[in-house]
Amino acid sequence: MTAEPQISASTVRRADGTAPLVSESELPTNGQFIDGEFRPSSSGRSLDVVDPCSEQVLAQVPDGTVEDVDVAVAAAVKSQHQWGRLTPKERSLVLLQIADRVEKHSEMLVRLESANTGKPLEVSRDDVSSTVDTFRFFAGAARAITSQAAADYTEDHLSVIVREPLGVVGVVTPWNYPLLMAAWKMAPILAAGNALVIKPSELTPLTTMKFAELVADLLPAGVLNVVTGTGPIVGARLAEHPDIDMIALTGSVQSGRAVAESAARSLKRVHLELGGKAPVVVFDDADLAAAAEGLRAAGYWNSGQECGAGCRVLVHESVADTFVQQLVDQVASFVVGEPGAGDEVEIGPMVSKAHFDRVTGYLERAKKAGIRAVLGGSPLPGPGFFVAPTVLVDVTDDHEVSREEIFGPVVTVETFSDEEEAVQRANGVPYGLSASVWTENARRSHDIASQLDAGTVWVNSHLILATEAPWGGFKGSGYGRDLSIYALDDYSRTKHVMHNHGR
Ligand code: NAD
Repeated sequence: MTAEPQISASTVRRADGTAPLVSESELPTNGQFIDGEFRPSSSGRSLDVVDPCSEQVLAQVPDGTVEDVDVAVAAAVKSQHQWGRLTPKERSLVLLQIADRVEKHSEMLVRLESANTGKPLEVSRDDVSSTVDTFRFFAGAARAITSQAAADYTEDHLSVIVREPLGVVGVVTPWNYPLLMAAWKMAPILAAGNALVIKPSELTPLTTMKFAELVADLLPAGVLNVVTGTGPIVGARLAEHPDIDMIALTGSVQSGRAVAESAARSLKRVHLELGGKAPVVVFDDADLAAAAEGLRAAGYWNSGQECGAGCRVLVHESVADTFVQQLVDQVASFVVGEPGAGDEVEIGPMVSKAHFDRVTGYLERAKKAGIRAVLGGSPLPGPGFFVAPTVLVDVTDDHEVSREEIFGPVVTVETFSDEEEAVQRANGVPYGLSASVWTENARRSHDIASQLDAGTVWVNSHLILATEAPWGGFKGSGYGRDLSIYALDDYSRTKHVMHNHGR
């Protein structure tokens, strides 16, 4: 590719420092939310929660233990029967009340989410409004579950198919969309009549704890429990606990593998939403301007810390230079900054120092391998874990930046010469969460979409989600579906009751 390097002029826009995003009184109660109340951890220890913009400690939360999990699971087991026996209408009404409660406090939750993650306010607003929508959708869906019609499939024997709750679900969530990923699990799990114990990421537990505080009076004690702590202790105990019927995790492949291995020993069900490396296949007949504009959002939303991010462009060689120039023009206009710097900020910091080191490590190694940054390519001055919005070209498909999830504001561009090669390369990574194809040819779009090995395929679009449509991956991106009626299926079990009515 001939595009000339245009090193980003990005600077980090800072808040004026007069008022913090959240006040002390808006922070959640510091404790494990178990059986309807906050209580200290049996460890007596705390974990620091760090603001990724200032690198200062924002709050402390309990460093949970195996004993904390066991108490929470016992509370969940005790409460589940009663919750599961409510009619769908009764549970639905509670979910609607939860949605209203979150909506009422949405402005505070937006600030709290941004303070903990550093994400732009616009992203947190979307997260919180999608959380409300998720609860409203599952409130309705819970009442619309259907099963196979009852009938005599064998002489004199009436078959009735019933959907039942699984029991208690253990949930482990990531740091990139803390409240929203929790909602994607909690809403269908509760709608289906289960109780749950959720462990938020140790980096970003605040909105999940605040959620529990806000809805504590709406749910029977024990139905929702939040245990904070680390993955190898709290998450691992949830995966192995004999009284947990399913472990649902959104996170990295490594964590998914760990919980699946552990769950195998008790043969509990497993639901995994793991990483992604979404290919964006741009054909020579595509509307290139629309593709570049679409990628501005889809590649960099939430600062690229997004499992469905359109982060790996495969563009036809004949239009590659034009497309790269259009993409660079789009990406160069991003405003990078702290969420407290105002509504214009579109790109925030990486969530932690460890993640910042990971992302910048990829950029350094790419540079050494001769991969060119035509925009960005480096960290931005601190404090905070900011990385310049980056476009990498001259990428070969065997390099780690083409194959692995970078999870930062970095889009790579590779070229292809024919359709077969495009599909083969798009599918040639271990992930299969999402993909997009950009072409004005309807036949081609159907054909290529059917060949792409991903749980979601967009045509002339990327990263547009609907609560009614399932979200989840193939291959290394896991199994199980979030959102939609399919999630309710995943969080319930099928029972066949057969009545002998012969006389
Ligand atoms: P992570 O795997 O590091 O952590 C996720 C959660 O797993 C955390 O709560 C962590 O404490 C816990 N965990 C870690 N080790 C564990 C273990 N041994 N046993 C049990 N739990 C353990 O992931 P992350 O860095 O927080 O999130 C980023 C990852 O999540 C990315 O790979 C991203 O693609 C993925 N993600 C996927 C989706 C999706 O819908 N598919 C959505 C959001 C994020």
